[in-house]
Amino acid sequence: MQKYGGSSVADAASVKRVAQRIVDTKKQGNEVVVVVSAMGDTTDELIELAEQVSPNPAARELDMLLTAGERISMAVLAMAIHDLGLEARSYTGSQAGLITDSTHGKARIIDVAPERIQKALSEGAIPIVAGFQGVSKSTKDITTLGRGGSDTTAVALAAALKADFCEIYTDVDGIFTADPRIVKKAHPLKTITYEEVLELSANGAKVLHSRCVEYARRFKVKVHVRSSFSNNEGTWLITEDERKSGMEQAIISGVAQDLADAKVTIVGVPDKPGTAATIFENIANAGVNIDMIVQNVSVGSSGKTDVTFTCPKADGDKALKCLESIKDKINFDSLDYDDQIAKISLVGAGMKSHPGVSATLFRAMAQIGANIEMISTSEIRLSVVTRASIAAKAVEAIHTAFEMDSDNEAIVYAGTGR
Ligand code: ASP
Ligand code: MG
Repeated sequence: MQKYGGSSVADAASVKRVAQRIVDTKKQGNEVVVVVSAMGDTTDELIELAEQVSPNPAARELDMLLTAGERISMAVLAMAIHDLGLEARSYTGSQAGLITDSTHGKARIIDVAPERIQKALSEGAIPIVAGFQGVSKSTKDITTLGRGGSDTTAVALAAALKADFCEIYTDVDGIFTADPRIVKKAHPLKTITYEEVLELSANGAKVLHSRCVEYARRFKVKVHVRSSFSNNEGTWLITEDERKSGMEQAIISGVAQDLADAKVTIVGVPDKPGTAATIFENIANAGVNIDMIVQNVSVGSSGKTDVTFTCPKADGDKALKCLESIKDKINFDSLDYDDQIAKISLVGAGMKSHPGVSATLFRAMAQIGANIEMISTSEIRLSVVTRASIAAKAVEAIHTAFEMDSDNEAIVYAGTGR
């Protein structure tokens, strides 16, 4: 199984280059199934087009529009393979048997029935499947899997077809210790655990689609993230047990930044049982997803405290409106809203058993004069909130502090990083 991302098939020349790569793989005696993303920034352009036509595009129609991007790339890629003398057949997600639920814009795969793909393979053809899309079992409408969803298509098909492994081709040599567009000294990892990738992608790193990683872990799909612009070995996803038995036992795997969140502070909240429950029940009912929460100890005799949480900027208005509506009920003093924050996350499976990780991170922040506004942790992640304006500098400082700097400058082969 091979999946090519948008930057690998950005224009006609790239499509031909990828076609050659696929043909070479096939000629080496492998059976190949290909999943392809939309060319370059096509998906973003289609979204912009939809928004020019309609401020709030109908979800069913938006999905229909966006799936056109992958249809273009699958067809031209198949043509290019034909010109190299092999047979390729393109299939939409629906034709390839990707059955989903009916949630437009972020549908979940519920079944994979790849009969047509198996038939094409048995007839010696190379199936080219449009990523990021499927068909709803109940409504029969075309759905999309959410941005970056082609990764998930590839892993789901790899699982259903029992592929030996799933190669995810991108514009850099694998999964890096930090975004190579931000940290020039970042280096590609040889291996990373499924859990680490999940933490990185959930915390702003543009690596793999989270659902793809969950799916791969569940169905034990071997995933290899690598560049379509080089022949270098990339990064293999491994289990914790494989990590433990392996040679390489890095404590830290990487650092990511996330600029998509805002910070809401509820000032002067009466410190008594039930207030937090009331606040967060209302926030949840408003459909706002909370990330970090901090509550201070109440100050002196006032019996009041501040409660701060972060949520996606996109949900900021909703959160504020919701809190205003319960102001009298809770009896807090005021609200503060700050969307100039960055969350920086350090991820590593070895963190569990190594003391001093947080101390090193806090010292690195201190040395560049970065104030830490919030802290949260999981078993294998340590996150801090700081000013957005110094995020890149902080990521670099942390990268250096944990000795992840490489001697060579990271290579970014293509893509706009959009
Ligand atoms: N073309 C879609 C996107 O840009 C899906 C993908 O690239 O995986 O999000
Ligand atoms: Mg894309």
